[in-house]
Amino acid sequence: MSRGHGYDKYSLMIGRFQPLHKGHLEVIRQCASESDNLTIGIGSAQYSHSLENPFTAGERYLMIKNTLDDEGIGDYCIVPIEDINRYSVWVAHVTSMSPPFTYIYSNNPFTRRLFEESGYSIRESPMYNRDEYSGTEVRRRIVADESWRSLVPEAVAEVIDEIDGVGRIKDISGGN
Ligand code: ATP
Ligand code: MG
Repeated sequence: MSRGHGYDKYSLMIGRFQPLHKGHLEVIRQCASESDNLTIGIGSAQYSHSLENPFTAGERYLMIKNTLDDEGIGDYCIVPIEDINRYSVWVAHVTSMSPPFTYIYSNNPFTRRLFEESGYSIRESPMYNRDEYSGTEVRRRIVADESWRSLVPEAVAEVIDEIDGVGRIKDISGGN
C-alpha cells in the first residue's frame, strides 16, 4: 500500500453482516485483490438483539476482523455505519465515516444509484451461491436447528459460539 499517493485504488463495501457469511467473504477477497485498501462498512450498526439484526456492531466487527486475520488480508478498515432514513444525505453520511475511497462494491440498487449520482465508480461482484450464502438463510437455519456452520467462515462460528449467538437468536425468535 502506498501512502500519500492518492486513494484511487481504495474501495468500500457495505453490508449488515448479520452474520458475515461465505458470500460476503468471496466479495471481500475480490475487493482485497483489486484494491490497495478496503473499507468494510458495517451497516445498520445501531441495531442488535432483533431477528433481522441479532449481533451488535462490535460483535460483527470481531467476526470480520478475525476472518480477515485468517485470510491474511491486512490493508483494511472496519467502520460502523448507522442507518439514517434520508437517502439524499446517505452518501455524505457514509463518506464521513470512511477513509477516502474511489470504488464501491455493492449490488444494492439504492446504494449504487446514490453513489453513482455523487460521482463514485460502482463495481459489481457476482452473487455466490445465494440460496445458501445469505444472512437470512443463516439465521433461519439457526432458529430451525439446521446445520449453519458450513455457510460461515470458521472465525465467525467461533464468535457466535463465544457470545452464545445461537441461544440469543432462538430466544429472540420466541422459540424454545
Ligand atoms: P440479509 O439476508 O441479512 O439481508 P445478506 O446476505 O443479504 O444478509 P447483507 O449483510 O445484507 O447480506 O450485505 C449485503 C451485501 O452483501 C450486498 O452488497 C450483497 O451484494 C452482498 N452479498 C450478500 N450475499 C452475497 C453472496 N452470496 N455473494 C456475493 N455477495 C453477497
Ligand atoms: Mg441483504
